[in-house]
Amino acid sequence: MLLAGGATAAWWGSHLSLSGSQISSIRYWMLFAGMAVLVVVLSIVIYRTQQKLREALAHPPKLSDDYTFLTERGFWVHNQNGSRVCANCMASGVITPLAMATLRGYNYEAGDFHSAPIWRCGRKLCNAHYRRLPNDK
Ligand SMILES: [Zn+2]
Repeated sequence: MLLAGGATAAWWGSHLSLSGSQISSIRYWMLFAGMAVLVVVLSIVIYRTQQKLREALAHPPKLSDDYTFLTERGFWVHNQNGSRVCANCMASGVITPLAMATLRGYNYEAGDFHSAPIWRCGRKLCNAHYRRLPNDK
C-alpha cells in the first residue's frame, strides 16, 4: 500500500509538475496516513476484544442454568438427564458426576461393621459423598 502510494505520488508529481521535495512530503503524509489508519484499525480491534472480554466476565455461563441444587440432598442434578453432580466440586467450578457406592465403616455405638448406600464423588481430590436413598436410581 505504501509502495503503491509512493508510486502514485511520483506519477501525480510528474503530471502536476511538482518538485521533488513536494513529492517527498506527499510520500511522507501518505506514510503518516497509512500508519494512522493502521493505528485506528488496531485500536478498534483491541477495543472490541476488550468489550467482548468484559461482557464474558460480567455474564459468566451460569451452572445453575443447567443444574438444580437439591437442598435436602446436598448435591446438584442436571435438568435434562438428571445426572447427579458433586456440590463440593461445583463450588470450585468443577463438574464431577456422582457414582453409586457403599460406605463401609465401623460403628462404635453399635459395636459392629455397617454399610450405608452413598453417592460418591468421582474426583479423588474431593472424595465427598452424599446419602443415597433406597429409591435413587
Ligand atoms: Zn466432589
